Amino acid sequence: VNDIIETSVLIVGAGPVGLALALDLARRGVRSVVIDDTEVGTELLPAKAGVLNDRTMEICRRWGIADEIRAAGVPADYPRDTVYCTALVGGELIGRSPLPPINALPRDLSPETTAKCPQFIFDPILEAAATKTGLVDLRRPQRLVAYREQDGSIAAEVADLTDGRTETISAMYLVGCDGAASTVRRQAGIPFDGATLDYSISVIAEIESLEKHHAFGRAERFMFIDERGTWCNLTSMDYQNYWRFTFLGYAEKPVLDEFDTEAAVASAIGSSNVPLRILGAVPWRRSECAARTYHQGRVFLAGDAAHTTSPTGGHGLNTGIGDAATLGWILAGLVNGWAGPEAAAAYTIERRPIALQNSRISSAHYRNWLAGVDFRGATASGATGQSERERIGRELATVLSSQWSSQGVSLGYRYDSTLVIDDGSVAPSDDPSSYTPTAKPGHRAPHVLLRDGRSTLDLFGAGFTLLSFDEPAEDVGLLTAAAAERGLPMSVEYIDDPGARSRYERRLVLVRPDGMVAWRGDRVDGASGAGRVVDAVRGARSQRHA
Ligand SMILES: Cc1cc2nc3c(=O)[nH]c(=O)nc-3n(C[C@H](O)[C@H](O)[C@H](O)COP(=O)(O)OP(=O)(O)OC[C@H]3O[C@@H](n4cnc5c(N)ncnc54)[C@H](O)[C@@H]3O)c2cc1C
Repeated sequence: VNDIIETSVLIVGAGPVGLALALDLARRGVRSVVIDDTEVGTELLPAKAGVLNDRTMEICRRWGIADEIRAAGVPADYPRDTVYCTALVGGELIGRSPLPPINALPRDLSPETTAKCPQFIFDPILEAAATKTGLVDLRRPQRLVAYREQDGSIAAEVADLTDGRTETISAMYLVGCDGAASTVRRQAGIPFDGATLDYSISVIAEIESLEKHHAFGRAERFMFIDERGTWCNLTSMDYQNYWRFTFLGYAEKPVLDEFDTEAAVASAIGSSNVPLRILGAVPWRRSECAARTYHQGRVFLAGDAAHTTSPTGGHGLNTGIGDAATLGWILAGLVNGWAGPEAAAAYTIERRPIALQNSRISSAHYRNWLAGVDFRGATASGATGQSERERIGRELATVLSSQWSSQGVSLGYRYDSTLVIDDGSVAPSDDPSSYTPTAKPGHRAPHVLLRDGRSTLDLFGAGFTLLSFDEPAEDVGLLTAAAAERGLPMSVEYIDDPGARSRYERRLVLVRPDGMVAWRGDRVDGASGAGRVVDAVRGARSQRHA
């Protein structure tokens, strides 16, 4: 017998992106069912993403979990340096890219900073926050077998992996957050364009006080280098005892049985005498792919289901969290009927170019690891070796600088869709390493520390937010009335703060629920002008006169 479960949104995949989307929807009052084919959530193996960038942390702040992430036990005073060397114990130093600890980072551009938080800590925090809302029904282990779109809804066939029973879940919308091999994407027939770069093996190990065994001091990452370039890196997962070795550059997927884990680890460390516990090894594919569209009918894709990237740069998970933040409010608008027909398509138009750019940047970093400088002489002896290593270290630090500092990627991304009303002002340059604040429509609404101690970012979230930097004006009333007439959730914040006024540059700024500026201006053109603004930002330009 088929049970039928009904929900607004069915999310396939309870990885970080599926959980984040469920949480975002719940914060907007939208119910979802989340299914995942694993028994429990993300575990230690295979430790994947470790760094939440400042934008992800801003989004987590809006969801109310940023403090919990920071309190989760990863020390904030740990140096984030990358050390380039030939091996750890008794190896030669090649160079170093220093990065300050998290607690020493400035907060002038954001109320948050990047955070170290491996997925085995992050995903359970998301899961607990999502299920606590009471609006998220998380079911595992359950697998999406197939779905049909008919009569204005989705009927999904779901297998319970404990008893083999099949259920039908009926939903208004289906979102594939089911990772790189996405069943949803395949069944929708959406091509996944791109290429495999190569394969790696990650080995997770527990090593107590690693710094006691070598001379390079504490660092987040060690890159092991010889004449052929970088062949392994060792990254701290939690700034304590969990470490991940990544052996890279395999043309074919490595067979685990043929891989001598102990010998590989010993060669990277440069010794077999460092006490450690190997927890497991996982081969994985490095690729740069993107779904040709993120949306088709009632089906959407987000996270790795929509795009894959080399982890060099740490943009994979963070790009997926950005997808969830934008898709969340668009879906809330569709479910509640206030979003117009252009909203769904805008999701691809806004998010896909970001993924393409981030994965292009990440592949470029990876190529620099392998061949970005002339590695000849890396292991040579004597004075020649010494000077070659110094040269390699200097050159690597230069070519990789935008991998270690990428605030332009995290905060500077911009949207160009029909949901954004361009004001013709000049956009700051799209530089991956540095971010220039702007309130130009399509950009992240910038952080300004208000005189009352709050960040402007703390004003956004539930629905649209109209910032008014002047006395209550007639225009505010016109926009509020236009929003109310169309069911668009919008609140008004009057801001009496010269710093914020000059950063935002206009009297009125309309910020979307995902914290991006939708429109700004000094006035609106009467009731019909206000209606035009509200219709554009909700994806109903074409319905303007309906
Ligand atoms: C070695 C490594 C290092 C990385 N480092 C970083 C980093 O530093 N920073 C960063 O931002 N990113 C990093 N990433 C990338 C990051 O891990 C991924 O981008 C992220 O996990 C994607 O999340 P997701 O929720 O989209 O997909 P996933 O985490 O893949 O989750 C998908 C879920 O869907 C489930 N599922 C699949 N099919 C079905 C089905 N048919 N039915 C039900 N459930 C299904 C899966 O079991 C899984 O639980 C790294 C990745 C790797 C491999």
